[in-house]
Amino acid sequence: VKDQGRNGYLFFDSEMEQRSLERILLEYELKKAIELEQFYMDYQPKVDLSTGCLVGMEALVRWKHPELGRIAPNKFIPVAEDTGLIVPLGEWIMRRGCEQAVEWQRAGYPPVKLSINLSVRQLFEPDLLPQIKAVLKDTGLEPQWLEFEVTESVFADLEDASIILQQIRALGIHISMDDFGTGYSSFSYLQHLPIDTLKIDPSFVRDIHLKKESQAIVKGILSIAETLNLNVIAEGIETIEQLTVLSEDGCSQGQGYLFSRPLSSQQFENYLQQMQCN
Ligand code: C2E
Ligand code: CA
Ligand code: CA
Ligand code: CA
Repeated sequence: VKDQGRNGYLFFDSEMEQRSLERILLEYELKKAIELEQFYMDYQPKVDLSTGCLVGMEALVRWKHPELGRIAPNKFIPVAEDTGLIVPLGEWIMRRGCEQAVEWQRAGYPPVKLSINLSVRQLFEPDLLPQIKAVLKDTGLEPQWLEFEVTESVFADLEDASIILQQIRALGIHISMDDFGTGYSSFSYLQHLPIDTLKIDPSFVRDIHLKKESQAIVKGILSIAETLNLNVIAEGIETIEQLTVLSEDGCSQGQGYLFSRPLSSQQFENYLQQMQCN
């Protein structure tokens, strides 16, 4: 936040100045990037932990700027959210992802669910529902193959979020709670939200084989999920040690570098071709 200087001038310390300049630049470039379609999608496999077979894929947006190079989502998504640019960008992401999923289904690969990240800003956009319906109709993707990942930030407006998520779910689309356990969520909120899946945050997976506390949290999530009849997936699995503990604790699905990094469309198609399961 800006400080009011001694003479009434606003002054910024240099770090703030740097940050806000970067932000202004990003905002400007982001607007252009949406018009110029400088984005593409990567897809990361989600697997069954006991068989290693593919059970889903998460679409992750990528920005390749002609001069600045690759810009990480953690950098530009927050800017897109603050400026509202996430709304047109999010619509493009949804459309591109669904088109791709249909393309793979029509090519004869066994269908798996496509997960799309949905910002809270998109969720509260009045146009969201018609947008989703249009994308499904235009691409021909059946809603059972679509899932939205939302974060615990939806808890901030529990009632409205619950209504909107209910409408999305009525279309036959699944809802997954991303980064579960990190936000200001209370387990009791879960009963009030129409949710199908909990996605265990990587921070609990990272040291699950080393720290009793992390394992206890994961066990807690697995047990509440069982009670509420929710699906669970662990995110950020990088090592066999983590996988072993998760499997022993009864977690059935996972995602992470141990299985695969996010893949380009071409790489993902190769992955589908080499897949031994169906
Ligand atoms: P997220 O939704 O929690 O996505 C998971 C992130 O973890 C991805 O980073 C993924 O590449 C990374 N990841 C997956 N497995 C591993 C692993 O084993 N180890 C480690 N260290 N990382 C792993 P990415 O693609 O950089 O995305 C970062 C965040 O940006 C996402 O977090 C999400 O919040 C946002 N984001 C990315 N794509 C989209 C999108 O299409 N729409 C929206 N609204 N947000 C997006
Ligand atoms: Ca996600
Ligand atoms: Ca996550
Ligand atoms: Ca996140």
